[in-house]
Amino acid sequence: MSGNLPPGVTASDIDDHYGPSVPSHDHRWVPANRPGFVLEDGAAIFHYVCEWAPTKSVDMGKYGTEDIAQGPECGNERSIRLETDAEAEAVEAVEISGSRGVHDTAGLNVVDIDPPEPGRADGRLEVEADGYTVVYNE
Ligand SMILES: [Zn+2]
Repeated sequence: MSGNLPPGVTASDIDDHYGPSVPSHDHRWVPANRPGFVLEDGAAIFHYVCEWAPTKSVDMGKYGTEDIAQGPECGNERSIRLETDAEAEAVEAVEISGSRGVHDTAGLNVVDIDPPEPGRADGRLEVEADGYTVVYNE
């Protein structure tokens, strides 16, 4: 974390004064591509990013209180791969956005999706493409 600091001021000076820019926290994982996945090299890869940011409760008078972000989001990233061992070449490098429900992108139809999540790595994805059915599992 560097950013635009005045000359002679380092990020660690800021941390010394205000504490670490990203305090320790329980990561709050959200899908990085709203939710979706990438099919690549015979695997379905789900990307997640931590959206946690330090907040401060501010009294908004009659509007109640609101949590205002006090620093940058954590931004930590994590990927989870689901592998397939069959017909891997049938589906290559397709990026799909969207979550549960019916998809039809580039001739590829998502039959079933149970996205893996950080902390719960088991997941399942079943797609149909060109008459193939490909199942990705943890
Ligand atoms: Zn985090």
